[in-house]
Amino acid sequence: MDDIKDFDIEIKMPVEIEQYERKIYDLKQLIEIGKGLNSTLDSNVLIESILLTCMGHMRLLKAGIFLKKGIDENVYILHRNYKGFELDHAIEYEIVSDSRFVKFLEGNFRCYGPEELEKVIPGDPAVKTLKVIGPTLIVPLKGKGKLNGIIILGERINNAPFTESEKEYLLNIASLAGISIQNASLYEMATTDMMTHLKIHHFFQAALVEEREKAIRQKTPLSLIMIDIDHFKKFNDTYGHTCGDVVLINVAQIVMSSVRQIDVAARYGGEEFSVILPGTSLESALVVAERIRKSVEEAKIMCGDIRLGVKISLGVTQFIPDADRDNKSIVERADRALYNSKTNGRNRVSFL
Ligand code: GH3
Ligand code: MG
Ligand code: MG
Repeated sequence: MDDIKDFDIEIKMPVEIEQYERKIYDLKQLIEIGKGLNSTLDSNVLIESILLTCMGHMRLLKAGIFLKKGIDENVYILHRNYKGFELDHAIEYEIVSDSRFVKFLEGNFRCYGPEELEKVIPGDPAVKTLKVIGPTLIVPLKGKGKLNGIIILGERINNAPFTESEKEYLLNIASLAGISIQNASLYEMATTDMMTHLKIHHFFQAALVEEREKAIRQKTPLSLIMIDIDHFKKFNDTYGHTCGDVVLINVAQIVMSSVRQIDVAARYGGEEFSVILPGTSLESALVVAERIRKSVEEAKIMCGDIRLGVKISLGVTQFIPDADRDNKSIVERADRALYNSKTNGRNRVSFL
């Protein structure tokens, strides 16, 4: 009898240890994933790493994520960073938040295949949208009891079905991703001007300190553009503040679309904007400034039926490491250049 017991123990232990080791390994992986996802507040970088994490861990060819564009929006949109799915770029793939699909996922927080969803919520427009895209698994992202987003996964490299433990693992990744997305969107809200969607003044100052330090460390140029709308008071006084706001929103949009992702475009104050251009010489910054000036001048900015002739003045300067010991020094120089544009007839670019 004793011999049999020993034998029993000998064959059970390794299996259990193997299972525990597997669990420990999975948990360690989850901790690493959590650390990775929490290391950035940049939502584009974050989404990229969520998708690549799912693809790497599950050996997938395709992945995408539906997220709300803003906190007060009631539509989830397929984020443009999706991987592998062959879709029409002109179409916005949307899922409305008061759909049966969303309500169902909020009440049944699990992974689903599209055919499973078709059975429980037949004919739902959200399921139809998903069917067009063609995922094999749908993973909900939950945060505070609400649906934060929806991860969609395509076929696997080996075409294997997802096991129950893999689905559980994906839900754990989704929980970590949900928290990171929430943090990133809170950060974005706290640092973004709601009207113009540009960065706020405080963010600009912090970014300028960082970029000055980086320029010194990496021995790279750094430039600054200051922008002020010409005779802005006229728009407010003649057409009302709503038209004034339209001008601000349009100019901000032009500034944002005229600069690179790594440039920092901010609303410096009321109708003043600033752009930090890392790795950019004065010469190149002047080209950017002139492009912005021209685009604003040529833009058809409408308030009702009236086309508003909006023009801007700009001041450009390059960071001088030995002279610009603080933000104030470089900002004042760009401001003086801007003032020169104003006194020399407006609607122009000056530099110092
Ligand atoms: P200049 O060409 O010399 O720059 O003339 P200006 O009229 O633009 O001059 P100024 O800088 O004195 O005017 C800025 C005005 O911008 C004053 C303020 O009432 C208005 N303003 C500031 N913030 C906002 C805003 O958020 N919305 C609207 N509608 N107006 C704003
Ligand atoms: Mg002003
Ligand atoms: Mg002005």
